[in-house]
Amino acid sequence: MKRTANQATVELLQGDITQQETDAIVNAANNSLLGGGGVDGAIHRAGGPAILEECRRLHGCATGDAKITTGGNLKARYVIHTVGPVYRDGRSGEPDALASCHWRSLEIADERGLETIAFPSISTGVYGYPFHEAAGVALMTVKRYMEDCNSGIRLVRFVLFNQPVYDAFENAMIQIWES
Ligand code: ADP
Repeated sequence: MKRTANQATVELLQGDITQQETDAIVNAANNSLLGGGGVDGAIHRAGGPAILEECRRLHGCATGDAKITTGGNLKARYVIHTVGPVYRDGRSGEPDALASCHWRSLEIADERGLETIAFPSISTGVYGYPFHEAAGVALMTVKRYMEDCNSGIRLVRFVLFNQPVYDAFENAMIQIWES
């Protein structure tokens, strides 16, 4: 499923983010940037040691912020590492932090002149963010960014690892683009 937001196509795909040929893929990292499980583990395995080597020199990343490295052996030229919030109760700043992850990742892509970027469903694995809620925050933030910023990004792809998460993004996309 896809929709347009200003000059960009926003697309949903079920699949593996490590296989994407976008200019950048986004990693759901942790504050240390020194590797973890889930999508982070998969990206470092597929991309090889050059990514971790560069991450070591970045001295971590704050929650809601993002930092960029090479894509190593990945098809994507860059990895944008962002740190999502650990979900507590939904009233502890989690929506703002999750929105910030998407916004900062898009800003960094624009700073580098990138045109295509792929996101996973940030925070919805080990970090426990309910994926129905996260889908709305993620898509709303991308739509707002494209409408408010003079972005050169032409494609924002969400690569969802399983069917329930894909379905949640599809429902959120329909709702957000209708209103
Ligand atoms: P977090 O710590 O931010 O919660 P996780 O990596 O645990 O990050 O999970 C985030 C999401 O990424 C989950 O929905 C998980 O199913 C998904 N995921 C795991 N591996 C991949 C992959 N290779 N490609 C895309 N998404 C993935």
